[in-house]
Amino acid sequence: MGHKFISQKKQNKEEMFDALVKNAVDFLDSSLDDLDKRPKNSIVDFYSSVELFLKARLMHEHWTLILSRPELANLNSFQVGDFHSVFLDDAVKRMKNILCEPIPTKAVDAFKALGEHRNQIVHFAHTKYHDIDATKVSVVVEQWCAWHYLHELLVTTWSPVFDDYIEEIQRIHKRMMRQQDFITARFTEIYPDIENKKKSGKQIEVCNHCNMAAAEVIEENRWGNDFECLVCGVKDTLLKKTKATIPCQSCNEDFEFFNKDLKNCPHCDAEIEHEYVLKACKEQYSDGDGWCEEGEWVAYCHGCHDDTPSVFYIDGLWSCVSCFDRGWGAISCPNCDEFVTGDMDTIQYFACVRCEDDVRASIAENGF
Ligand SMILES: [Zn+2]
Ligand SMILES: [Zn+2]
Ligand SMILES: [Zn+2]
Ligand SMILES: [Zn+2]
Repeated sequence: MGHKFISQKKQNKEEMFDALVKNAVDFLDSSLDDLDKRPKNSIVDFYSSVELFLKARLMHEHWTLILSRPELANLNSFQVGDFHSVFLDDAVKRMKNILCEPIPTKAVDAFKALGEHRNQIVHFAHTKYHDIDATKVSVVVEQWCAWHYLHELLVTTWSPVFDDYIEEIQRIHKRMMRQQDFITARFTEIYPDIENKKKSGKQIEVCNHCNMAAAEVIEENRWGNDFECLVCGVKDTLLKKTKATIPCQSCNEDFEFFNKDLKNCPHCDAEIEHEYVLKACKEQYSDGDGWCEEGEWVAYCHGCHDDTPSVFYIDGLWSCVSCFDRGWGAISCPNCDEFVTGDMDTIQYFACVRCEDDVRASIAENGF
């Protein structure tokens, strides 16, 4: 008898999670549908979707995490139109303190900017969005930026949670990317500013998100340059490229393989198989860095959560051949002893990508 109750409850949780995610996807679709004629609705729906994805992520951890805390809503903030950001702030705190999985600051900023506009639209006559033509460009740019971060979370850090929905997520991603015309218009609009920055000595590179030559370099690192894109607003890193090669599995010619967009051999056009790349890298790039002793050193990737070790020390940087991120440190986790990449503090004081689920479960059970 007891069993029946438990299994029903479990199914309810799954159904609720499923409904939240489907709802979030629906809001993204309607947001894109409305972009041309009703940009205000578009931004409202887009923001709803961001909230729903956050709710789904929290709910996946524990259903109580999505209960709102009424004591946090106060009349003043309601009247100035920012009471909805209470959800966002709260969700951000819970992600950090309870899930130990902080949302990157840049992503939080992009969601907040969108949330503020959403609130102004809902609660006030929002003056910024009266002129439809200019509006579409600014709405696209803002959503493009927020989507960049949301998509990144969905396909990397949160991928174990949203794996069943990956096809839908990629379908939306393609729709979002089709807004390129408006990104080009925005580029033309700010082109004089970009030229001025160049003249004053600023380094401008091609943004790896909107593909416009509008990425202003903010900081140079060993693993690549941090930039802020003047067109799409994304802050990201242009990873240092590598000319490292492996031989093609069909024609045996060497080719530069570390490129996430490369799907076929540049010599014979044969499809590049991931399994083969792993095998070829094991032969050529498994010596590790100066800290590694003799043997094979391939790390698990904390970025893409690949179940096979996929991070090799290639050309001076730890480089994942599954998600093509590079530049992270790799160490043996002091908790579970697996060889992993990740943020050193997180691994030291919490857990690594391989043992975090166990550590979390033990915290939930025992309080430590
Ligand atoms: Zn850009
Ligand atoms: Zn080939
Ligand atoms: Zn990876
Ligand atoms: Zn570990």
